Amino acid sequence: MFDQKNIQQAIDTLKQQFGERLSTSSSVRQQHGHTTTRISNQPPDAVIFAKTTDEVSAILRVCNQTSCPAIAFGTGSSLEGHVNAPFGGVSIDMSSFDKVLTVNHEDLDATVQPGVTREDLNTYLRDTGLFFPIDPGANASIGGMAATRASGTNAVRYGTMKDNVLGMEIVLADGRTIRTGGRSRKSAAGYDLTRLMVGSEGTLGIITELTLRLHSIPDKIAGGICSFPTIRAACNAVIETIQLGIPIARLEMLDPLHVRACNAYSQLNLPEKPLLLVEFHGTSDSVEDDAARFSDICDDHSPSPFHWSDNPDERKKLWKARHDALWAAYALIPGATGFATDVCVPISKLADCIEDTITDIEAAGLTAPIVGHVGDGNFHVLPLAMPDDIDMHHKISEFSGRLTARSLKLGGTCTGEHGIGQGKSIYLRDEMGEAVEIMNDIKTAFDPKNILNPGKIF
Ligand SMILES: Cc1cc2nc3c(=O)[nH]c(=O)nc-3n(C[C@H](O)[C@H](O)[C@H](O)COP(=O)(O)OP(=O)(O)OC[C@H]3O[C@@H](n4cnc5c(N)ncnc54)[C@H](O)[C@@H]3O)c2cc1C
Repeated sequence: MFDQKNIQQAIDTLKQQFGERLSTSSSVRQQHGHTTTRISNQPPDAVIFAKTTDEVSAILRVCNQTSCPAIAFGTGSSLEGHVNAPFGGVSIDMSSFDKVLTVNHEDLDATVQPGVTREDLNTYLRDTGLFFPIDPGANASIGGMAATRASGTNAVRYGTMKDNVLGMEIVLADGRTIRTGGRSRKSAAGYDLTRLMVGSEGTLGIITELTLRLHSIPDKIAGGICSFPTIRAACNAVIETIQLGIPIARLEMLDPLHVRACNAYSQLNLPEKPLLLVEFHGTSDSVEDDAARFSDICDDHSPSPFHWSDNPDERKKLWKARHDALWAAYALIPGATGFATDVCVPISKLADCIEDTITDIEAAGLTAPIVGHVGDGNFHVLPLAMPDDIDMHHKISEFSGRLTARSLKLGGTCTGEHGIGQGKSIYLRDEMGEAVEIMNDIKTAFDPKNILNPGKIF
């Protein structure tokens, strides 16, 4: 499909322009392939550290003329092989696009370059009283987060990247640069290309600037935990919380195995039972009111007390443990590799889906902790296997297929937030049916030579 001679020709041409900023060193190339899960590392042939929109445009012109794959790279924290280069080509490292360009306090928006990470952005905003809420756990780049339509722990309150990107500058496959959206909160002007680009996984264009919605830092933040006797009891508490409209900011669940993993990894001492972690954002009064209502719900479903606190250190420790949950799970079997899963179901189906999944895990003899952004009906199972345990990898692939089928049957999706990449492409048609053909047509209209991140999504 792609000719190595053409790829080499593109690299030789680009080397003349980028000199030292084009690397073919094997460690740099490997680091720009997939590194986070069991999906094999497929490094690009070269990595270019671009600095400006004009440079991205020049790279894509060369790649388009020579039919050389071009893969945008944020921080490489994606979980479905998104940054792999299965056909070789060049990785375009966007980390030098690291400037916050403007912050408009009155309008609660900011324009940033795509290599700014979410932590950098919030550090920059610290003294403004504003923050950017999307929090995928990893310190991902804003460009990568937009490209994967990321969400995470805060989505139940603030939405996902699709709700928080107002506009973009994008370089297309042929090197043209376009702008989508703008700074206004609403627009009915033509097709919504911003929403199309959010979640396009680097297959339709390379984002070189983004305008984001910001939010006011709440007056008060309080967090809490409650253990439950069963997964169903915890899920029922979640469902009731959402159905009653308690404006929860974060609502996460860990199964007993994941609690054990976090206890060991983050030196905690939590009961090894299904656990809900919550956070409330608001005024002093509203947070107290929300916590009291949530506590009443917990009382109906659990004999264990709901502990809550507005002590920032306690809160940070708990959420740090939650953010480290992936690495904590890996540590359950030293040397093991993980198989990321990411289903999302309508909230009323959550208990059925998780319970059936646990029965499946037990029957298949897997070590597979569960953690979820359950306020959105989204949860991850992380089956573990040693890299050379082929039988176990096979069992896990079958399990993943059953998990996805279960979610689709319940009206859900094969990916709530990680995206399709390579890992989920086998499920896309099951979920989308004929719509995949239209997605293919859109891809061809944007990128007729299929140079942008080929081998992903489809
Ligand atoms: C510990 C851990 C926890 C995680 N938890 C969550 C979670 O809770 N929720 C969640 O949503 N995700 C989660 N993730 C996954 C990951 O953080 C997200 O997918 C994130 O959005 C990827 O951002 P990145 O900058 O690392 O992008 P990369 O991995 O570098 O790239 C991801 C994709 O975006 C494309 N891309 C990158 N930059 C651009 C650009 N400028 N223009 C166009 N395309 C671009 C790439 O080509 C690739 O297809 C987690 C990952 C880890 C390691």
